[in-house]
Amino acid sequence: MTDARSLSPQLPTLKLVINGQFMEPLEGGVLPVTNPATGEKLCDAPSATAGDVDRAVQAARAAFESGPWGRMGARERGRLLRRFSELVFQRREELALLESLNNGKTFREALRGDVDSGASALSYFADQAGRILGEVLPVEGPFLTCCLKEPVGVVGAIVPWNYPTAIACWKLGPALAAGCTVVLKPSELTPLTALKLGALALEAGIPPGVLNVVPGYGDPAGEALARHPDVDKVSFTGSVRTARRLLQGSAASNLKKLTLELGGKSPQIILPDADFARAVEACFWGIFSNKGEICNAGSRVLVHERAYDAFVARLAERARHMRVGDPLEPSTEMGAQVSARQLEMVLGYIESGRAQGAKVLAGGERDTEGAKARGCFVKPTVFGEVLPEMRIAQEEIFGPVLSCLRFTDESQALEIANGTPYGLAASIWTEDVAKAHAMARKVRSGVVWINCFNEFDDAAPFGGYKESGWGRDLSHHALEGYLQYKAVWTKLPASP
Ligand code: NAD
Repeated sequence: MTDARSLSPQLPTLKLVINGQFMEPLEGGVLPVTNPATGEKLCDAPSATAGDVDRAVQAARAAFESGPWGRMGARERGRLLRRFSELVFQRREELALLESLNNGKTFREALRGDVDSGASALSYFADQAGRILGEVLPVEGPFLTCCLKEPVGVVGAIVPWNYPTAIACWKLGPALAAGCTVVLKPSELTPLTALKLGALALEAGIPPGVLNVVPGYGDPAGEALARHPDVDKVSFTGSVRTARRLLQGSAASNLKKLTLELGGKSPQIILPDADFARAVEACFWGIFSNKGEICNAGSRVLVHERAYDAFVARLAERARHMRVGDPLEPSTEMGAQVSARQLEMVLGYIESGRAQGAKVLAGGERDTEGAKARGCFVKPTVFGEVLPEMRIAQEEIFGPVLSCLRFTDESQALEIANGTPYGLAASIWTEDVAKAHAMARKVRSGVVWINCFNEFDDAAPFGGYKESGWGRDLSHHALEGYLQYKAVWTKLPASP
């Protein structure tokens, strides 16, 4: 891997991408983009308002209804999507450097977990475009009845700041493969790579208006997209709070379809016969990779009472020695929280854990050592003696804070695991695979990992049960979310 300190950042064109043009926002708004590891300003990005969103939606509508995209064959769409994925992959270091500087994650995480994941998803869906098959239906009577699968239309993709490139691509891949057009609204905190993606899509030959990029605040830009009567679907990744607003926006406008990928409070269940060395390492990275800013972060570790003390002690020891610091330094294991606001939120949760009686076993405070004093760093924090009803065991912290809980038997483990409003992911660690499978069926979450954690593949669906959301990213299931079904009946002439 290249040493990121030898690379120079290359900013995108700092304009909205609408209808293949780079445009100033109508009201001239800007988003100040900062580096959370140093507190320094990187640039001002354009900030869209409702008028800009309307221009972008009109461009996407025109591209869908009357542009070349709508007339293009599926395999040709797939070919353009593949070219797009190749360009993202070719520019991976440039994109990763921008993301590391803007988000505070390490360059390694930006490269592998964010940019490569995005490029890979575009490539996977490029292959899927030509495989969207209709059906001939076995109806009664003299009919030839087909089910056509058609694109849902104009998609608003609203994405968060924790994996800005990957999550954007997880939505662009299936939407474009299905034949939809898109208005992408990145988070106000991390708009840079989305602007690059807009430019790369044009460079790949994807026609103007098919992908429009409008960075902006949740209100007004996100709200305008969610309430726009000409948007057919919103594909959203973010918080439950915003998802509720989107539901209101859909209900108040055209009942647009929604895919919602929301938060989590994922449990890792450690049975006494687990391979401890592997499980400790997986629990460590499960919470501290991407500085805990992962929707499926393994933020609760549930350990059988026989193993609890030894297991949690090893985990806390590992956390105390984690290398926190400059995200561009190759040996750094954890970078900075994305913003001062996020830092305050995380520190607030740490205080609530202490106040409710949990025991700090590692970290438990801001990291202000040396140059880190200027940035948004938190020490990797491990809490022991956490009870299921505590806030740090119930609420998504979205930071490097791990809650360790005890259980006495498997049924209690499952009760604790299922005992939050979330249901995104879980893991089970045991050498008894039959037992693990039996337990997996009882866990109410969209993903269960057995003797592993945080494994992703473009072919495997990702998404939640309960308040963790509706619909799925990745896999052919995601593609179905951008298609709608049309039954076409042809009455056949009577047979001679
Ligand atoms: P957020 O909900 O605050 O923001 C997400 C996006 O929604 C941003 O682009 C934001 O500008 C926009 N937004 C905010 N208010 C809006 C409104 N009223 N109308 C329309 N859009 C609006 O979430 P966040 O803080 O950016 O991200 C963190 C959350 O995302 C966490 O809860 C995390 O678990 C979740 N997340 C989920 C997944 C997943 O795949 N399940 C992945 C990553 C993050």
